Amino acid sequence: MRVMIHACCGPCLLEPYDALAAGHEVSVCYANPNIQPAEEYAHRRDTLVEYARAAGIDVRELPYEPEVWAAATAGLGRPERCHACYGLRIGMVAAEAAREGFDAVATTLTVSPYQDPDAIRAMGEEACAEAGVTFLVTDFRERYPDATRRSRELGMYRQNYCGCLPSRAEAEAERAARKAARQKR
Ligand code: SF4
Repeated sequence: MRVMIHACCGPCLLEPYDALAAGHEVSVCYANPNIQPAEEYAHRRDTLVEYARAAGIDVRELPYEPEVWAAATAGLGRPERCHACYGLRIGMVAAEAAREGFDAVATTLTVSPYQDPDAIRAMGEEACAEAGVTFLVTDFRERYPDATRRSRELGMYRQNYCGCLPSRAEAEAERAARKAARQKR
């Protein structure tokens, strides 16, 4: 089967790609209008592309349109904001996969213990049904420790927030709260 996998970043690609490539012909698609600022988007993309090219992996990028992400998530907080974000990104890849004659779509998002696999499945199935391709339901979370180890060994850039500006603010607030709690001990 020809599978197009949505990749959110280089570290998250490592294990899902290997798992899928064992049984399928896999191409990678970087489709992430959620990531801001633009320098961060480019840094994650360049990390991914550098790894993919060195490994001989087919990789493409879809247009970066953060205003489309902003419209899709307007007025939403967690978790609805993330659900809309999953649907938008997987939907972009599903449309590209259908245009290019792929059979199925998957996503690296399910390697992260910070994402919601049930919501990814629901949004992925809906988006892929609309595009007329199969959504491959995956759960790569048990591979997350290996993904972390390998990305460190490769010296890959590893971001410290999910991708959107609200998630950056949330991650900063969580780090500040943890620091304050440590100082109280
Ligand atoms: S926290 Fe992550 S998944 Fe949720 S909306 Fe932001 S970028 Fe998307």
